[in-house]
Amino acid sequence: MGLEEKLPNGILLASLEGVVNWARKNSMWPATFGLACCAIEMMTSGGSRYDLARFGMERFSATPRQADLMIVAGRVTQKMAPVLRQIYDQMAEPRWVLAMGVCASSGGMFNNYAVVQGVDHIVPVDMYLPGCPPRPEMLLDAILKLHAKVQDEPINARRAQLREESGAKTEMI
Ligand code: SF4
Repeated sequence: MGLEEKLPNGILLASLEGVVNWARKNSMWPATFGLACCAIEMMTSGGSRYDLARFGMERFSATPRQADLMIVAGRVTQKMAPVLRQIYDQMAEPRWVLAMGVCASSGGMFNNYAVVQGVDHIVPVDMYLPGCPPRPEMLLDAILKLHAKVQDEPINARRAQLREESGAKTEMI
């Protein structure tokens, strides 16, 4: 007989990891950060029709220090790349990145010297969303898929990734 069957009704069992991840995914504040036309669809997603607030994202944070999710909405130019990296570096762990649209994911139709061919050259990306532009429903779908990923993530996975990143930086120096 399993432990749950032995306990009286009304006792709820949960792992600490499950509770931490549940809290993380339900309070994932996005950074205020739009780069091009995709940003219009991102802003629409925050309005009353699509209501991102339903998923604990009622507040786009004006400071990266209080943001958990960077939605890269639009193409990243070479000039903008260091700024984007700086904003990412200012976000506290755990932090996630969603590449919204083909431009952010791969450069899209802007296959030229001025545009970074995928934001994953600058920051690690957790979720890619295709489309030009992706509709707000698609953004919501990507966010919910990211939530599912976060729910299943080992809570110290981020720390390990950070250690790897800082090791790589030290090697580069
Ligand atoms: Fe604009 Fe399309 Fe690129 Fe989005 S994917 S930034 S809508 S050109």
